[in-house]
Amino acid sequence: MICPNCDQNSAHIEKTTQSLKVFGKEEYILIQDIPVTKCDSCHETLFDAQVVKQLDEYRKNPNLAEEKPIRVARFPKVA
Ligand SMILES: [Zn+2]
Repeated sequence: MICPNCDQNSAHIEKTTQSLKVFGKEEYILIQDIPVTKCDSCHETLFDAQVVKQLDEYRKNPNLAEEKPIRVARFPKVA
């Protein structure tokens, strides 16, 4: 598919996982299988407007997500 950034026919849809901060809280939500457009030519990663809207929905209403235990690691400093 055509990349909206560089107009090359080198973009494709991938699924990605991201953690997002809940609006106004020190709380995070892990969102899996987010469709994202990735380009092999310019290496741009783009979310379409509908996806951004849905992500904001989760950030406003974290109760839409299932509660699960999650392990959190902070990557050690690399010298
Ligand atoms: Zn591109």
